[in-house]
Amino acid sequence: MVSFAAQPSGDTNDHQVSAIPEAPEADAAISEDGTPLAVLTADCLPVVFVAERADTSVPLTAVAHAGRRGLLDGVLQNTVHELRERGAHTITAWVGPAICGSCYEVPENMRAESAQLLPGIETETSWQTPGLDLPGAARALLKELDVQVADTGADHSDWCTLEHDALYSYRRDKTTSRLAGVVWVPSVADSAGKDTP
Ligand SMILES: [Zn+2]
Repeated sequence: MVSFAAQPSGDTNDHQVSAIPEAPEADAAISEDGTPLAVLTADCLPVVFVAERADTSVPLTAVAHAGRRGLLDGVLQNTVHELRERGAHTITAWVGPAICGSCYEVPENMRAESAQLLPGIETETSWQTPGLDLPGAARALLKELDVQVADTGADHSDWCTLEHDALYSYRRDKTTSRLAGVVWVPSVADSAGKDTP
């Protein structure tokens, strides 16, 4: 059984529908035993965490769905705080593909409000209108929280969902298809013997 974190609310249409109707509505989920977790996103930001603990070899895992509202409301800070409450000492985060700062157009007042809460998130789109950089702001925020942010590049996790056809984008496709960011601890999942097809 994979736990999905889906956040159906927000100020844009791109995350109003959960592709998994029975999934609990949450913007973050944490596992202490390696149970697979998944986060479903289209243009919003999937963030996956793995945290080492001193008392056990089983790392903590977490997923967070960071849309604009979630990011401004502190979903990443809250997730990191929860991981540390559970004994995390080294946290690594993987920031997955999302709509980039050159493509995510928002009204000027929304950009201003967002920049007030999270300075640095404001951008201009490639067509010179107000925009927001969710992945850039998330990476900066995580580093400030002393979280190691996994390198982008090799795995294309910095690809823009709007610009790359291989990735789902609600803004481009207007479908409810989603990307799934999944994290699990292989040894635990294998020994549970129920998660492999
Ligand atoms: Zn883009």
